[in-house]
Amino acid sequence: MEITQSNSVDIAIIGGGVAGCTAAIALSNSYNVALIDKLSEPVERVGECLAPAARRIFKQLGLLDEFEKKINEIHQRNNGMQSYWGSKNVQIVDPLRNPDGFGWQLNRKEFESFLRKKAVERSPNCFWSYQLFQCKFENEHWVLTFASTNEISKKKVIRAKFVIDASGRQSHFAKKIGVERQSVDKLISIWATLTNEEISTLSTISASQSGWWYTAPLPNKKRIMAFQTDSDLIEHAQLKTKEAFINLALCNEQMKTILEKSKNSIQFNGIVAANSTQLKQVTGQQWAALGDAAISFDPLSSQGMFNAMANALQLTDLLTEHQIIFQPNSEKTNQFQREYSEQVNQIWKHYLHHKRIFYSQELRWSNSEFWKRRR
Ligand SMILES: Cc1cc2nc3c(=O)[nH]c(=O)nc-3n(C[C@H](O)[C@H](O)[C@H](O)COP(=O)(O)OP(=O)(O)OC[C@H]3O[C@@H](n4cnc5c(N)ncnc54)[C@H](O)[C@@H]3O)c2cc1C
Repeated sequence: MEITQSNSVDIAIIGGGVAGCTAAIALSNSYNVALIDKLSEPVERVGECLAPAARRIFKQLGLLDEFEKKINEIHQRNNGMQSYWGSKNVQIVDPLRNPDGFGWQLNRKEFESFLRKKAVERSPNCFWSYQLFQCKFENEHWVLTFASTNEISKKKVIRAKFVIDASGRQSHFAKKIGVERQSVDKLISIWATLTNEEISTLSTISASQSGWWYTAPLPNKKRIMAFQTDSDLIEHAQLKTKEAFINLALCNEQMKTILEKSKNSIQFNGIVAANSTQLKQVTGQQWAALGDAAISFDPLSSQGMFNAMANALQLTDLLTEHQIIFQPNSEKTNQFQREYSEQVNQIWKHYLHHKRIFYSQELRWSNSEFWKRRR
């Protein structure tokens, strides 16, 4: 027997990652919000360096004190980055001159759990283990059907005046209503975790012939190691096994030094998409896309989570300023859509500009396809 539960809300947010939770926390002061995620709880994932400017967002959300209490207990300070980029010589960037102070090396799973908990405290309508299944627009509302990821026969229907797609790079809602996504490149990340045996607390970036390596200490005496390259430039066998990953890492001087001490502890986690992508339209009829669902960045920028949080606050401000949830009219809606699209577009252009500058600083492998594509 099929069991269907229904809810009616002002705003439905699809995706309870960093973007969706931040939006839910900010919007629930003024609106009746539903937050829905397909996962029962956050999972371990790559992407742990949170930019110092996120401090301002925590403050605005009223979460700074609580988050900072967790720094030593769960997360750790980011003490800066050393890079082997453009030359064999190391360059060090530390956070001492950053007006926002230091950033963080997060325990990503715990961080997402923290945001989920804060969203639950502020909104009674948080539903985990529900995946978007169908969406239709009728009588000036979106009617969203979610399928339970635990029980096949269980469904949830949410009627909402406005939908926020915060479902990450897949942008499930936007895709379902026919909005296309464009990719600038084919970057992927192959990643592993290992025991941290290093004394240095700096993160490391090291360019190589067909991509670049990243490694950084994580909380709990762990370390992340990841290789970024284009999906069509690497042998598929090299993507699939721990042994192949280790062999690739041993070709890079800095990774080799680290692996010599901790090779046996390596846990290979596989491949994830890391390309720069943009939704061709980030807002439309009573909906908007947020975070990675709107634009996704190359991990070189280390800005994805910060952008997701900042983007959530920008969207909250615009929705409140234009009052398009409670008193909609076409003039206000058009104005909202124009301003939101413009804001996202500005971030995207700025990001592409800086991405080009960073990649064009590496000139050592003039015949390498990976680097040629980026100059
Ligand atoms: C290799 C790599 C390294 C990175 N390193 C960093 C870093 O160091 N620092 C940094 O700031 N950023 C980093 N990022 C980027 C960062 O991880 C993302 O920008 C961030 O996760 C975006 O958050 P989001 O909430 O928009 O999307 P996501 O984190 O992808 O969250 C989307 C949520 O939607 C849910 N969902 C998806 N589909 C559905 C559906 N159909 N129904 C219901 N729920 C759904 C998912 O379960 C998920 O919880 C990195 C990314 C990569 C790929």
